[in-house]
Amino acid sequence: MTASHDLFDRARARIPGGVNSPVRAFSSVGGEPIFFEHAEGAYMFDVDGKRYIDYVGSWGPMICGHAHPKIIEAVQKAAAKGLSFGAPAPGEVTMAEMLCEMIPSLERVRMVNSGTEATMSALRVARAATGKDRFIKFEGNYHGHGDSFLVKAGSGAQTLGVPTSPGVPAALAELTLNARYNDLDSVRQLFDAYPDEIGCVFVEPVAGNMNCVPPQPGFLEGLRQICDEKGAVLVFDEVMTGFRVGPTGAQGRYGVIPDLTTFGKVIGAGMPVGAFGGKHEIMKLVAPEGPVYQAGTLSGNPVAMAAGIANLELLREDGFYEKLEARTKQLADGLKQAADNADVPMATVAVGGMFGYFFTEADEVTNFEQAAACNIEHFKTFFTEMLKAGVYLAPSAFEAGFVSSAHTAADVTETVGAASEVLKRMAG
Ligand code: PMP
Repeated sequence: MTASHDLFDRARARIPGGVNSPVRAFSSVGGEPIFFEHAEGAYMFDVDGKRYIDYVGSWGPMICGHAHPKIIEAVQKAAAKGLSFGAPAPGEVTMAEMLCEMIPSLERVRMVNSGTEATMSALRVARAATGKDRFIKFEGNYHGHGDSFLVKAGSGAQTLGVPTSPGVPAALAELTLNARYNDLDSVRQLFDAYPDEIGCVFVEPVAGNMNCVPPQPGFLEGLRQICDEKGAVLVFDEVMTGFRVGPTGAQGRYGVIPDLTTFGKVIGAGMPVGAFGGKHEIMKLVAPEGPVYQAGTLSGNPVAMAAGIANLELLREDGFYEKLEARTKQLADGLKQAADNADVPMATVAVGGMFGYFFTEADEVTNFEQAAACNIEHFKTFFTEMLKAGVYLAPSAFEAGFVSSAHTAADVTETVGAASEVLKRMAG
């Protein structure tokens, strides 16, 4: 019996499914979740004392590695001054200035406490700005667990959205339209089917919730053009890509400027933080400047702001992203080579500090259908065997992986070495 197992037993008695967020339960890979005791740099250590090279990074925030001394110091200093004021404090001003300076489209930004809050709020503002309730999102993109986003495509093209979860009212789900990622025609068809009814388009500019699927050349540009033509608000959900695929987010990397952007993860360095922002023209609708209600007791929390600011400062150091990108590419290329050597069909991809690997015969994956068609049994075996070898990968085939600046070339070499062994066994 392991300490993890004992904790999971206790957890199941008091927490639904034993976890506070479903993907942690390992339901799609089998087995029991691991409980962690501490983490440092590129490593996490479980409650039984085993070390793992971590490629989840708390699902993205730990871009500088775990427990970075400068971030911990900033948090400790801020905590000593009081945990929350529920009133304005200097950190939130600095954070807003840094975000607006670094992200091309931001003129105004509002802090919230999670990515989910950021997207829910951005959707409300976009609907208010256009007076139109319907919006488009993409199959396989994830925007948190707000009701309007938990909606899948109905059967057949152009049908109304249906809830993916009980408790989401069908009347609300009907307003959510699903298009195909990397397919501009599917977007145009929806605008044709609902002329003058669609207020905004939500997109992950690099999809990180159906594994890692970059935009095809012209896709984001096309969305910008369609939204301009139709008077719709273009929202980039950069909760994952913000400060992850480069210092200016996906919008800077691909040179496409959205009207609104949502953030989370990296800007909080692991503290509960999110943000949404954009042009003043739209953001001036947000209360108290405007009529769109949005609020939060802990929003702009001084400890969270201190962590986020320290993180953003580290990202501004010379060569940060070049090194991160090179390391991520080393990993993606290494995995691909290992799979080729073992004759296991695999496609890999790297964008900034994000990566993906697909068990597929295809050269690349560009949408959800293709991601869903990958060999799930291969994924499960690979995940489980890598875990045994001390490599912690995302416990779902539909999640991107994350590299941090703390991962060394030696960590990646160790990872690829373990992958080679696992893949050879899978082939044999
Ligand atoms: N948007 C995207 C693109 C995300 O990846 C996530 C979380 N993985 C969210 C929104 C929701 O963020 P949170 O889990 O902080 O609510």
